[in-house]
Amino acid sequence: MSGFDKEFGFSCDFCEENIGGGMFDFNESMEMKKQDGWINRKHDGEWFNFCCEECYQEFLKEERE
Ligand SMILES: [Zn+2]
Repeated sequence: MSGFDKEFGFSCDFCEENIGGGMFDFNESMEMKKQDGWINRKHDGEWFNFCCEECYQEFLKEERE
């Protein structure tokens, strides 16, 4: 699961796209995620970040295989 990284912010758990970080602090990065349509999903008791619904669906597909 990807947490917040000071330099790179959050990253998508599927395509590894990054958002926030650098000059943006945790809260600002959270806000950017929200405005950019990122989603949080709980999977096996852990939270994951996805940049879009498609990445989440692809992630689930791979998990099932
Ligand atoms: Zn993604």
